[in-house]
Amino acid sequence: MEEKQIRVSQSIIKALARYTEGKECGLVIEHQYVKGAKIPPSEVQNLGNWFEYECTGALPPYDPVKPEPKILKSGKMAVGYERMLPHIENYKAAIKHYNVTDITPGIELKYGNIAGTADIIAKINGKPVIIDIKTTGLFDDKWNDYGWRTDHLAGEFRPKIGLLTQPLHYKWLYKQIYKEDPDFYFWIFSTQNSHDFKIIKVNIEEELYEVHAQEIQSTLNFLLHSLENGFKAKPSISRCAKCHFKETCDFEVKIPEVEEVWYSTNIKDLGRNIGD
Ligand code: SF4
Repeated sequence: MEEKQIRVSQSIIKALARYTEGKECGLVIEHQYVKGAKIPPSEVQNLGNWFEYECTGALPPYDPVKPEPKILKSGKMAVGYERMLPHIENYKAAIKHYNVTDITPGIELKYGNIAGTADIIAKINGKPVIIDIKTTGLFDDKWNDYGWRTDHLAGEFRPKIGLLTQPLHYKWLYKQIYKEDPDFYFWIFSTQNSHDFKIIKVNIEEELYEVHAQEIQSTLNFLLHSLENGFKAKPSISRCAKCHFKETCDFEVKIPEVEEVWYSTNIKDLGRNIGD
């Protein structure tokens, strides 16, 4: 694959960061981003795609087929889908309330080989905005890396870098293309009930854009290096068990490697003090 064919999206930036931290398998990245293998969407992703389609009319870019709700044998909509119906009305009411106009859904932002697909580009009071729609079962979760507890999102304790990469990447892209800094909003809808819905505006410190540009360049360099030298397998029991490519993989592990811990007097004292 040549450099001009590479598409640097926020998901590849995140995947390569996880790969360098040993949290993602290189062979999975190669299958997905280099060979273009399609991973079938999970139930949760299907629900999210359907909801987004019902709100915006946009089809998922990686699988542009009209999403259908899950229908039970009884002919009724599955409960998870039924629960989202009031959220479609919540979405419409918020569009009206905030006077969101000039809505264009499912837009690809592309600057050279750096890309991202925005759920919605629109205007609020004449100002350009990017809106990303999220459906989540972790609406108020503060511990999970993908939890949406607002004060923990960009809080000092475990900031959710995986979630914050998207607004940074999309705002940066928009700025490069249109020479204007749009506002970025997450519109977050709970899949656990029909009322929890919140809107979070993500503000980006100006210096971060420069950091992001450097990160994109190092992602590109690392990607080219990995294409030349090969992606490395990073198997683990839980990764391999859930992997879509395990049937044809020679590196799948089923027996855990031995991990070690060291217990010392220092740790014992520390543990005792915490208990005080
Ligand atoms: S089965 Fe394991 S080693 Fe093989 S590609 Fe999947 S995660 Fe990687």
